[in-house]
Amino acid sequence: MSVQKSWSELQTMARAARLVIETLDLLEAAAVPGATTGDLDRIAQENIEKAGARPAFLGYRGFPATLCASVNEEVVHGIPGSRKLREGDIVGLDLGCILDGFFGDSARTVAVGQVSPEAESLMTATRGALLAGVEVCRPGQRVGDIGHAVQSHAESRGYSVVREFVGHGIGTSLHEEPQVPNYGPPGRRERLVPGMCLAIEPMVNAGVPDVEVLGDGWTAVTKDRRLSAHFEYAVAVTAYGPWILSEPYPYAELEAEAAHA
Ligand code: MG
Ligand code: MG
Repeated sequence: MSVQKSWSELQTMARAARLVIETLDLLEAAAVPGATTGDLDRIAQENIEKAGARPAFLGYRGFPATLCASVNEEVVHGIPGSRKLREGDIVGLDLGCILDGFFGDSARTVAVGQVSPEAESLMTATRGALLAGVEVCRPGQRVGDIGHAVQSHAESRGYSVVREFVGHGIGTSLHEEPQVPNYGPPGRRERLVPGMCLAIEPMVNAGVPDVEVLGDGWTAVTKDRRLSAHFEYAVAVTAYGPWILSEPYPYAELEAEAAHA
């Protein structure tokens, strides 16, 4: 069971989540043909440290960078370096920070220049699968309902979901209980309660769901080398519904109404 966060803890979680999103905005703008994934990593580290936070992935189990940058058939955990982005690439940007003791963790896949309709469609479906999962984050639902919603969305569009990597609880640790798979039957696993914070992060493949890890020990690629996309938000379960922590709290009016009813 993930730790239920207090209101003030959620405020700190939200600041960490916003810093990650603001940094991803900078990286998306910088992901142009000719830029290297190492360039993006430097921008990420500088922006996080400028805000008084620290990179969450740098040194995590020995990961050597601030950013995970996963190009085309790379699913997750790509190591930034001298690789130059090319027109038509898609690049998954996964970034975490720790701010005042709480973690932010978010990912998005972005287009480098003009990309194929197939790549656009995969990215749209993956982001849609994430939002379908977020929508389920309400008290009384179960963790399995999230995975079921994600999988249904992706597969109904002809794609497959990766099984080897999962979403997770998030808070004072980067990875807390429970695990949040992107697949499986509804009605199973932990029940969602207000104050739970979950990082939901579908990885969706154009072809087969299978992945393998390259010789660097980190970079996961699709077994068939077809494209993969990855989107992630940290979400709080509230009494009123899901709160994507990088967005303004959406239920202030509802709360005020309830208080005066
Ligand atoms: Mg992440
Ligand atoms: Mg994560």
